[in-house]
Amino acid sequence: MSGRSYKIAVIKGDGIGPEIVGSAIEVLLKAGEKFGISFEFNELLAGGCAIDKYGLPLPEETLASCKASDAVLLGAVGGPKWDTADPSIRPERALLGLRSGMGLYSNLRPALLFPQLASASPVKDTGAVDILIVRELTGGIYFGENGSYKSDDILADGTVKGEVAYDTEAYSEGEIRRIVTQAFEYARGRRKKLTLVDKANVLRSSRLWRSVAKEIAPSYPDVALDFLYVDNCAMQLIGRPASFDVIVTSNMFGDILSDEAGMITGSIGMLPSASMGAPGTPGMFEPIHGSAPDIAGTGKANPLATILSAAMMLRWGLGEAEAADLIEEAVRKTLDAGYRTPDIASGDESEIIVDTNKMTGSVLSAIG
Ligand code: NAD
Repeated sequence: MSGRSYKIAVIKGDGIGPEIVGSAIEVLLKAGEKFGISFEFNELLAGGCAIDKYGLPLPEETLASCKASDAVLLGAVGGPKWDTADPSIRPERALLGLRSGMGLYSNLRPALLFPQLASASPVKDTGAVDILIVRELTGGIYFGENGSYKSDDILADGTVKGEVAYDTEAYSEGEIRRIVTQAFEYARGRRKKLTLVDKANVLRSSRLWRSVAKEIAPSYPDVALDFLYVDNCAMQLIGRPASFDVIVTSNMFGDILSDEAGMITGSIGMLPSASMGAPGTPGMFEPIHGSAPDIAGTGKANPLATILSAAMMLRWGLGEAEAADLIEEAVRKTLDAGYRTPDIASGDESEIIVDTNKMTGSVLSAIG
């Protein structure tokens, strides 16, 4: 027992957020006990509940406390109640504010197909899918210069242009270097294959990604680097998903491809994620799904994505790989035993359909 202690900022958020984060906290406490790890959980408001209380989605105190913590565990924010709010105070602004305020420039999205859930995958005979998508999070077209203007110019077929809107995909060498280096490191700790996904046949910014990656590659002679155009990658993810190890890509391509890869794994309720910044700074760990207002309070929420996000927090955020392994193994055992929340049920009669609490209880028992 080494008696390590961590300060965790907890943002439960809206909808099913409080239910699934509650599950993850129970699991963290139980796994922590086994390794002499203790946690100080500091509950903070962000998203719709913060709008209700303070009139804004990301109170200053929440951001400051997150930055002062060892890691942030987040449920999900948003819901129909705030859909008509002014865009500047929509719940989702809290996520953007946390990403930029905490300097979280890379988003890690594992797409792991649990063999027990293979029948839930829309892609058949996939083999062992275990992909880590590393998406750049704070640059590119979502943050580049944008604008709109009126134009009286005439198109070749005689149509008047009218309103013109543009968004700019811009990346600096530094932004590319830090995330590609991170991706090489992750690949080194896995199956040692890194695929850079881009559109280098068309985009100049993609060609910069390629040249920076080629410059870094000699420092990682043990990692095989290859390149794929994004349109081809979209096909290959369906055709041969098991052949991918780590994929690194820009903000927009990563946004799209990580959803596609997630779909291959069967359920949105199983997918964790991590957002990381510079080494030594706190990361943020959350399920990829939203606040699922349609099932909030019904006990139908699958807590496993959040429990697996807590495992990612232990592994990537706190350097507690053994405790992370224990939680991931407990999730596998729970699935092996046949426990399923409704979202991952296939209809097979060997399955035991359970609610959020029972699923959590089963993971806790598997931890032992
Ligand atoms: P969603 O991910 O919340 O739900 C999509 C579907 O998946 C729903 O049918 C839902 O019931 C189901 N689902 C999601 N998580 C589940 C779980 N753990 N267990 C079982 N079923 C689950 O997406 P949405 O409906 O498009 O969005 C709802 C709200 O969440 C919106 O306000 C949206 O803006 C917000 N949102 C937040 C985040 C975030 O906080 N990171 C991400 C996406 C969407």
